[in-house]
Amino acid sequence: MRVVVDLNRCQGYAQCVFLAPEVFHLHGEEALLYDPAVSDDRLEGVRQAAAACPVQAILLGEQVRADGR
Ligand code: SF4
Repeated sequence: MRVVVDLNRCQGYAQCVFLAPEVFHLHGEEALLYDPAVSDDRLEGVRQAAAACPVQAILLGEQVRADGR
C-alpha cells in the first residue's frame, strides 16, 4: 500500500509518529519523513495515523489513486 503525506498541509503535530513510528519520523522540529511503501503488517498503524492526523494530510493507496497522485 502506498502512503502519501501532503507536506503542505502537515503541521508537524506528530500524531502519526506516535501511532506508526516504523513509518513516520520527525526530523528536527517540523520536517516529517516517511516510508511511502507500507507493508501489510504496518497498515493498521498507518490507518490509525491517517484518522488521527488533525489536518488530514495522510493519504492511503486508494485515496492516492483517486486524487491522481
Ligand atoms: S499527524 Fe499529520 S500533521 Fe501531524 S506530523 Fe503527521 S502528517 Fe503531519
